[in-house]
Amino acid sequence: MAKYYVNKTAQDNGDHEVHKEGCYWLSLVTSKEYLGEFPSCHGAVQKAKEKYPTADGCKHCCLECHRQ
Ligand SMILES: [Zn+2]
Repeated sequence: MAKYYVNKTAQDNGDHEVHKEGCYWLSLVTSKEYLGEFPSCHGAVQKAKEKYPTADGCKHCCLECHRQ
């Protein structure tokens, strides 16, 4: 299980990126929300989508869940 966070600030394309704990890009996020512990990014992105329908996995730490 890993801890996942969602960026509360949307990117330029409107996506809210989901990151795994320890991701370098997560350390640059100024406003994030803890999602919980999940076995993979899929559950984390699903959870994030309850609040942010445009949630998407980070290309660096959640490549499996990254759409664009
Ligand atoms: Zn990341």
